[in-house]
Amino acid sequence: QLIPVVTVDGPSGAGKGTLSSLLAKELQWHFLDSGAIYRVLAVAALHHDIPVDDEPSIVPLATGLDVSFETDGESSRIILEGEDVTDDIRTEQVGAVASQVAALPRVREALLRRQRAFQQEPGLVADGRDMGTVVFPDAQVKLFLTASAEARAERRYSQLKDKGMDVNIARLLTDIKARDERDTQRAVAPLVPAEDAVVIDSTHLDITQVFEKAMEIVRTKV
Ligand code: C5P
Repeated sequence: QLIPVVTVDGPSGAGKGTLSSLLAKELQWHFLDSGAIYRVLAVAALHHDIPVDDEPSIVPLATGLDVSFETDGESSRIILEGEDVTDDIRTEQVGAVASQVAALPRVREALLRRQRAFQQEPGLVADGRDMGTVVFPDAQVKLFLTASAEARAERRYSQLKDKGMDVNIARLLTDIKARDERDTQRAVAPLVPAEDAVVIDSTHLDITQVFEKAMEIVRTKV
């Protein structure tokens, strides 16, 4: 009895998070935000004063990570070592540290089982960078959502602006390109579409159009 998986991979800011949660809601399936796990690990490393490149210390931290994802109706909270870190993990600083710990091969290995445990009845939508290539290579549907770096920087800019934050779009674009570079060039699980992934370019699409395109693909396969 195979539990179906839809993977959604792609660079940061392409809209994977929004698409994946819409898909999970529509299908009434479980949802794995794998980036959140790397972000929680980054916060744990910062809390414990472990340097981000200290692989021998981060591996046991990853293996024993005391994290839970608590969903209560619409809202879901992320609890690390008894503390609510839902908002803390979303900062640019934590994102940058997450991307550094994510470049450590043994750290990725240590998080595999934790991610695969999300594959539960009736199905799973998994959001990340290597969901279709490494974590769920047998997934029934693999989507790769992308958009130009400029479009992603603009979206991020309006999100932050709406939150009342003072941001510089040129800086955002530089950060996005640096993160893309790190994520695509790393030796383990680099960001590439799986061979059998369907690529959706959202540069000129809004979220409704992306969702409809994705659902069309999902319906043909599950
Ligand atoms: O997707 P999100 O921005 O939350 O992920 C934070 C960082 O975690 C990414 O920049 C990426 O380096 C890393 N990541 C990863 N593999 C995943 C998900 C996230 O390497 N499956």
